[in-house]
Amino acid sequence: MHVHFITKNLPYTDQKLSEVRSKTESDPTLITLKQIILQGWPEKRKDCNSQVLEYWNYRDELTVVDNIIYKGQRLIIPKCLRSEMLNLLHKGHPGQERSFRRAQISMFWPNISKDIVQKVQQCSVCAEHQRSNSKEPLVSHEIPKYPWQVIGTDVFTLDNQDYLLVCDYMSNYFEVDMIKNTNSSTIIKLMRTWFSRHGIPQKIVSDGASYYTSQEFKEFTTKWDIKHVRSSPQYPQSNGLSESCVKKVKTLLKKCKQDGTDPLIAILELRATPLSIRPLKPFNIGENVRIQQGKSWNPAVIQEKLDNRSYSVETPDGGQYIRNRQHLMKDYTCQDNDPPLNTDNNQFTQAICSNQDTADSQGKLSHQLTSQHASVKSDNLTFNHSKSPASTNTLKLPNIYPEAYVTRSGRQVKPKIIQSV
Ligand SMILES: [Zn+2]
Repeated sequence: MHVHFITKNLPYTDQKLSEVRSKTESDPTLITLKQIILQGWPEKRKDCNSQVLEYWNYRDELTVVDNIIYKGQRLIIPKCLRSEMLNLLHKGHPGQERSFRRAQISMFWPNISKDIVQKVQQCSVCAEHQRSNSKEPLVSHEIPKYPWQVIGTDVFTLDNQDYLLVCDYMSNYFEVDMIKNTNSSTIIKLMRTWFSRHGIPQKIVSDGASYYTSQEFKEFTTKWDIKHVRSSPQYPQSNGLSESCVKKVKTLLKKCKQDGTDPLIAILELRATPLSIRPLKPFNIGENVRIQQGKSWNPAVIQEKLDNRSYSVETPDGGQYIRNRQHLMKDYTCQDNDPPLNTDNNQFTQAICSNQDTADSQGKLSHQLTSQHASVKSDNLTFNHSKSPASTNTLKLPNIYPEAYVTRSGRQVKPKIIQSV
């Protein structure tokens, strides 16, 4: 019963679980660790078997279930499977932050965060397509009471192909599909399919494009009893959520095209990744960075720190630029740079190490995690992950979200519906 409760929430196939089990049984450190967990830990650290000292700080969270070791709800991955698991976490080039959040709900080993950071930062595809540093706009003026109550919508073009996107304001869950043209009727037809699957939203937020302002679209929203709000020139950011979602999806599709991965799998994995916020760390003079130029992140070196937020940088061709911190990223693909093992020197690990408990106590992280969670648990949302190509992978997407999330500090967070303000 207990076994079922734990394993059903993990994104693993039975096959993968038995592989982890059999490798755990032949991993010398994990054999010792398992014995100690079952027999009880010594009182003092100095009496602890040196082979498993790196697990000492987590000893209260470790359990053995069905011959697999867990830290909370995360599987402890045996050494010989770690690089394979890193590759799975990196599938679809999710970037550091999202890779880490994937790991947070599925797997653990000592220094896993460093390994993830290194993996992502040494990937040239990820470096070139890093998302803009800026935080996603918070839509503070309207916090929906339930998922799919308020959705944003936008149309974007990539490689001469138009796409329609809708994005849920509460959970950030999105739907995206190619459209053959941008006629209102085409857009309405696709929206009806999505609404019949997820329920009819109370409100749609869009920009003022003609396909949204047409009589036909108006008739559709009236007939379906949907309030249609258009972002105005005074409040252009009111459709910011859809726009930031468009950015994410576009980047993802580009990466998939570049390295030939299946965009459907990448989209599913993007959706399945919990949300978070991260702060930015200052740069030192001489540091190798990437600067955002148009849609690419290109190499540069920090020349001078102008104030807390802006830097002057020089590109290899001698170009001098002044850039806000938000438009700069440390470049770990550059060989001259220190390897990203020093956690103090890393914005990602800094974010997860120094601010984890603050974020939790302020409820920000929990809010975002639970709000996403709540959406997926909603009755009017149905997902057909079983038909998705991802189910053929060894690392399945979670077909259901955990009953409760384990936060970065290891606490379990129960989902709750956020009340509107
Ligand atoms: Zn990558």
